This record gives sequence, structure tokens and C-alpha cells, in this order.
Amino acid sequence: MKRSLDPAEIAKYLADESRMTGGFASEVAWPASPEEAAELLRESAASGTPVTVSGAGTGITGGRVPQGGLVLALDRMNRILEIGPDRARVQAGTLLSEVFDAAGAAGLWYPPDPTEWGCSIGGTVATNASGARTFRCGPTRRWVEGLRVALADGTLLDLPRGAVRAAGGRFEIPRPGRTPLVVPAPDWSLPRTSKHAAGYFSAPEMDLVDLFVGSEGTLGAVLEAELRLIPAPEEFLAGIFFFDSEEGALAFVDAARAPRAAVAALSLEFFDAQALGLLREKGIALPGPAQAAIFWEEALGGETRPAADAALDAWLALGAAAGARDDSWVAEGPRDHGQFRDFRHEVPASINEKLARRGVAKVSTDTAVPRGQVRALLRRTREELARESLEHAIFGHVGDDHLHVNILARDPGEYAAARAAYGRLVAIAVEMGGTTSAEHGLGKLKAGDLARLYPPAVLDRMRAIRSALDPAGILGRGTLL
Ligand SMILES: Cc1cc2nc3c(=O)[nH]c(=O)nc-3n(C[C@H](O)[C@H](O)[C@H](O)COP(=O)(O)OP(=O)(O)OC[C@H]3O[C@@H](n4cnc5c(N)ncnc54)[C@H](O)[C@@H]3O)c2cc1C
Repeated sequence: MKRSLDPAEIAKYLADESRMTGGFASEVAWPASPEEAAELLRESAASGTPVTVSGAGTGITGGRVPQGGLVLALDRMNRILEIGPDRARVQAGTLLSEVFDAAGAAGLWYPPDPTEWGCSIGGTVATNASGARTFRCGPTRRWVEGLRVALADGTLLDLPRGAVRAAGGRFEIPRPGRTPLVVPAPDWSLPRTSKHAAGYFSAPEMDLVDLFVGSEGTLGAVLEAELRLIPAPEEFLAGIFFFDSEEGALAFVDAARAPRAAVAALSLEFFDAQALGLLREKGIALPGPAQAAIFWEEALGGETRPAADAALDAWLALGAAAGARDDSWVAEGPRDHGQFRDFRHEVPASINEKLARRGVAKVSTDTAVPRGQVRALLRRTREELARESLEHAIFGHVGDDHLHVNILARDPGEYAAARAAYGRLVAIAVEMGGTTSAEHGLGKLKAGDLARLYPPAVLDRMRAIRSALDPAGILGRGTLL
């Protein structure tokens, strides 16, 4: 197995896309098989060496940034083991883009799409990644049919969905040649939001697979995943509708996601006036004085394929009724659709560039609120930010009542005010029954947010689960709890 103590090799694993600083480790190892990964964990548990599992490092909360010990890098476990007709079995280090390509070549589709395609499948499972299309297709969790996991002590578990379920307040995990491992089952309520990625999952009689999904590398190393695939859509419809008022954009969203809407939205993405302003600053020509925009998509095909013309007419009618501008955009083919997706991606990219020029770190919420409360969230967010005239841009997954409020500190001196405002915005979302993280997870940078969401008794319960699975406390130090 390849292992290295070389600081230059280790340095590649000390950061992620959050640009968190202060990561350190004494060794990096690249197992090439589940058995090698399990052996590394067994060794580390015996010596009490901290282990940080690393995927592709696209995380934005510092989850894979090590705080000492060994980095377990899964880059070399990147094979697609099986594909089709309705499943893919892949090693954890396989990139999401590779799964998309392999599924597409077989006429199949893996819908979870966190915008960033350079992430690893193991990372997407560990963070329960989601994104724009989660509105219709749900987060990664919904597409995971089974996992191969190495526990902190090196035990390898093969877990098809349905194999181990919580009963009587606990999981009993069979271990070859040993007594079952008993782990307390989660028993707390989750926020009533359509997306949630803060802390461990909880549901009555839940499947053990769901405990590992979203556990951010703190309960075990995901080594393989079995993913559900569906037939690829025949075609995508897409548009960006611009509005002269934010209320028009929100009315359009209400109509597009109404229970008997004439459209079947795949995604509904919001841009406020400031987010559009960032695109204008980059020289992108946008319709007139638009104050807000919605990027929408619909997948056509499969059993319910409507005629494309009728589907497009339905979208245009909804837009007209909500006051969409006549010079709004509709994709005329895959090329336009790709450009619309780039347009969406350009918003966070321009924020990152601007902050890099100013030399300040990003301050961004990932909060979601219960269905129908997004107007109130926007109003309260603006009131809060206006107090200190903080520059901000708001965009995100409005179909799921989930928005990213980016506070752009003008200089390092304003950063503390931005962080304090972040705390107040998270508190507002929680007060409204929302979650502190809907998709990015908490990692290390936002680990403190867990205590804003749950009372101490729930945090103790999470700690008990973690220590039952990792008694030596070696996995993911500093992440989550
Ligand atoms: C431009 C941009 C846009 C993004 N947009 C979205 C979005 O819309 N939605 C979204 O959900 N995310 C988004 N992300 C965040 C990121 O892509 C996801 O969190 C992704 O799932 C991380 O995968 P990774 O392989 O890069 O994981 P890493 O960054 O390497 O690790 C993330 C966490 O998972 C753990 N981990 C990694 N692999 C494993 C494994 N095999 N077993 C156990 N634990 C593991 C790590 O220890 C760490 O805690 C975005 C990122 C960028 C840069």
C-alpha cells in the first residue's frame, strides 16, 4: 500500500474548498482495496492515531481538513465495479462526473447533482450531498441502496439497505466471529424542512445505511456504494425567467410547485438583485433592470413524458401570470441549457473571486426553513443585514425553501461583523423551525451550529452513537461534535 510521510504529499490533503487553514497530519495513506483501508483503521485504532477520511476535497466546511494523525485518502479506490440496468456499484473514490458519464453511456441517470462534479461518491454519501435537482429527486440518501463501510476498529461491514434496522432503541450490528456491536439508535426529531444535513439522521426504525449517509466521516469510512439509477430523460426544458420585483419571482415559484401545477419542475433556483448584480459586474448582459430571477428545469421522458411544446407553453403561461419579463430566456437546446447551468454556477464563483480580491473569507448560510416560509426568511434576513449595512447576495434552492445568504465583508475588519450576522441568521432559521445546514454539512467550520439546533441531550445522544462506533475516538476529530 502506498503511504507517505513526505510533507509535500501531505500538504495536498490539508485543505478543502472552504480554504480553512490550520490542517496538519503526519502521514497520508492511499489504500487500494477495502481490506487495505480496514487494516489502516485497525492499526490506527490500536495506536490511538486520529484518522481523517479524504474524498476529493471539494467540501466547503473543512470536513476533510485533518487535525493531526493519518489522512486516509481514497483517491486510488476509484473503480466502477458494476453498472446497469438499474444500479451502479462504485468504489468511494470514484468521481461523481465519472458516474454521470458511465450512467449516461448506458442510457441511465444518477440524479443527485451538487453542482460540483469533481467530488467523490464517498464524499457525497458522507455529506448526503444535494443540490438544485433535489427539489424533485431528493438528496443522495434517496439513491443509496447499500454501502460497504469500514468501522474505526477495522471491521468491514457490507450493508445492503434493509439488512440492519433500528429496533428497541438500538442497532445490533453483526460482526463475523464476534458478538454483535450494539449502537444506540437516533431518537430525536429532525427539522421539518425538505432538506437537512446538520448532524446524524434520525427516523423511527431507521436503516443503518441512513446513519452512515451524512455522518461526515465520523462514524466509519465509506468504501463502496451501491447507487440506484433510472432511465435517462429524453430531453430537458430549461429557462431563466427575470422579474422586475422579487415578489413576482416568488409568486412564480409558488405557482410552479403548487400541488396541481401544470409543470413538473426538476429545479427552481433563485437569484436576488445583488446576485444578478455580481453577474453584471462580470460583464454578463442581463435583461433590463431585473430585480430577481428564477432558473427552472424540467426533465422530459420516461412514463410521464408530456409533449415538449405543451410543457413549454405551461412554463411560459406560469411566467406570464407572475410577471416574468418578455426578454426572459428559454433554452433552445442542450447548449443553452449548459450555459444556464454555468450561469447558476457563476454566482458562487464570482462571490469567491470577489472575496479573494478583498482578502476575506466567505461567510455563507446553508439554512432551509419549513415549506412556504421562504418569504419570511428573506424579509428577516434583510432586516438583520440592513442593521450594519452589510453587503450580501442571496441565491439558491428556493423550491426547497433553502437559500444561501452570502455576506461579503468589504475588508478583513468587517469580517467579525459578518460572522456575528451569520450567527443571527442561523438563529432566525432555527427559530422558524428550520435547519442550520440543508446540504453542505457542518464539518469543522460550522460544527458549533449543531448546538444552535439541538438541546444538549440530543448532542449527548449523538456522542454516544459516535463513541459506540469509534470507542478510541480516532475518526474525523473536530468534525461535527
Ligand atoms: C463550487 C461548489 C459548489 C458546491 N455546491 C454544492 C451543492 O449544491 N450541494 C452540496 O451538497 N454540496 C455542494 N458543494 C460541496 C461539495 O461538493 C460536497 O460536499 C461533496 O459531497 C464533497 O465531496 P468530496 O469528495 O469533495 O468530499 P471531501 O471534501 O473530501 O470530504 C467531505 C467530508 O466527507 C468525509 N468523507 C469524504 N469521503 C468519505 C468517505 N469515503 N467515507 C467517509 N467519509 C468521507 C470527509 O471526512 C469530510 O468530512 C459544492 C462545492 C463547490 C466547490
